[in-house]
Amino acid sequence: MLNTKLLVRRLQPGVLLSEEEYTFLIENCTEEDREYLAHKAREVCESYYGKDIYVRGLIEFTNYCRNNCYYCGIRCGNGNVSRYRLGREEILSCVEEGYGLGFRTFVLQGGEDLAYTPEEIGSLVSVIKKKHADCAVTLSIGEWEREVYQYWFDCGANRYLLRHETADKNHYEKLHPKELSWERRVECLYHLKEIGYQTGAGFMTGSPYQTAKNLAKELLFLKELNPHMVGIGPFIAQKDSPFSDYPNGTLQMCLLMLSLVRLALPKVLLPSTTALGTIHPNGRELGILAGANVVMPNLSPVGVREKYQLYDNKICMGEESAQCRDWLSARVESVGCHIVTARGDYIGMVQK
Ligand code: SF4
Repeated sequence: MLNTKLLVRRLQPGVLLSEEEYTFLIENCTEEDREYLAHKAREVCESYYGKDIYVRGLIEFTNYCRNNCYYCGIRCGNGNVSRYRLGREEILSCVEEGYGLGFRTFVLQGGEDLAYTPEEIGSLVSVIKKKHADCAVTLSIGEWEREVYQYWFDCGANRYLLRHETADKNHYEKLHPKELSWERRVECLYHLKEIGYQTGAGFMTGSPYQTAKNLAKELLFLKELNPHMVGIGPFIAQKDSPFSDYPNGTLQMCLLMLSLVRLALPKVLLPSTTALGTIHPNGRELGILAGANVVMPNLSPVGVREKYQLYDNKICMGEESAQCRDWLSARVESVGCHIVTARGDYIGMVQK
């Protein structure tokens, strides 16, 4: 007979439960169990990273995307989006501003926008790395051929974020049109790891059709993939999407999954996401208390932020980069941690 108290106590760092046990825990976890797990996850995080919280400067440089993921506000089928692309100089100016504010990681994020050629992206990465050899560059621009990933890596890119969104193929097919394949997504993640990127996977909690069993599978999938980063955010309905009427994911489920991922992959870099801060005023602080150790403030020009809404009511739309960083810094300190300007690489991973 399964019992959540016993399962929770078995969850030592790096220890995995079976799919059935995780499913039971996720379905039956009490608030007391969740808080216990959060406390334990925070302790494990601090045993590797102390009270340091890493910042990543996020530059959302295009909201064009060739894909049509059903949950996403900037999918190609949404005719109500005002589209934009930042030019090379605008992107570099965001980097300069961020560098002056102490950022040492820049995340270039966008939809899958073929208007930027692989060479243009590669050249951008090279310029940033030449100018700021002490910085890490992260790319988050979707699925590409292995050769292209390799080329960007050779240009100096250090990290790549590619959320897989769900570890269950059938579930994936309910969230995406048939042109997108779960196998292809996962193959990309393995290519990125093989090339040598610090690789970030990730998923939504509370997405339409998601079950506790899906979330249990998530933990087993991640343990096998063993990524360096895992982005976890609650599903938030976007008003123009086919899922506009679905309820948002809950704060509690997202916090629980953060803690379970921290315990399964003790050294992982785990962001407390903007989506978590969107569903609850203290969401990002609670994410840190549940085991997260990364925050990603926005460095995009204020004028375009409103246009990059993957989901509704996203926070931090109007603040200048410096305000955004100071505000986050104060919030991180309110839970006894502090923002550091170090690059914040995965422990034990040495990169250029
Ligand atoms: S989730 Fe990513 S790939 Fe899918 S439509 Fe949105 S930006 Fe494009």
